[in-house]
Amino acid sequence: MVWLATRNRLVTMDRVASWSQGVDTSCVLCKNAPETRNHLFFECSVSSQIWKQLTQGILQSSFVNTWDALSSLIIGSSMGKQKRFCLRFAFQTTIYTLWRERNNRRHGEAPAPPEVLLKLIDKAVRNKLSLMQSKRVKSFDGVLPYWFSTRL
Ligand SMILES: [Zn+2]
Repeated sequence: MVWLATRNRLVTMDRVASWSQGVDTSCVLCKNAPETRNHLFFECSVSSQIWKQLTQGILQSSFVNTWDALSSLIIGSSMGKQKRFCLRFAFQTTIYTLWRERNNRRHGEAPAPPEVLLKLIDKAVRNKLSLMQSKRVKSFDGVLPYWFSTRL
């Protein structure tokens, strides 16, 4: 799914509208803009709020919430291993969680508030980091305390 997102192959509403007329293309998270990949991840007011709370503590002054800036930041090697791992995993988990929420809403399910989505993502990241630590992979030593230290 994240693979599809990175190639801009997710069936976002801007793409649906290109072959199906008369569909509602507005973003189901904010209902305030047309849905495109770049809007959904993470320029949307709802997703940017979640992304900011999740990664502001890691990125600090280099915080960004546009797809292109984030992609180059994550691919780039200018940051430490732990930081990059946390950021990559937060990125993947947020995309996955927001896409699932978007689909739920499109199928008429009750919306989950941003705070709930943020908690789900944070928990999934912690579980993953905990797993990496328990495998005693050297470069992941202390990665979980690092994540906690970046919580706001
Ligand atoms: Zn939106």
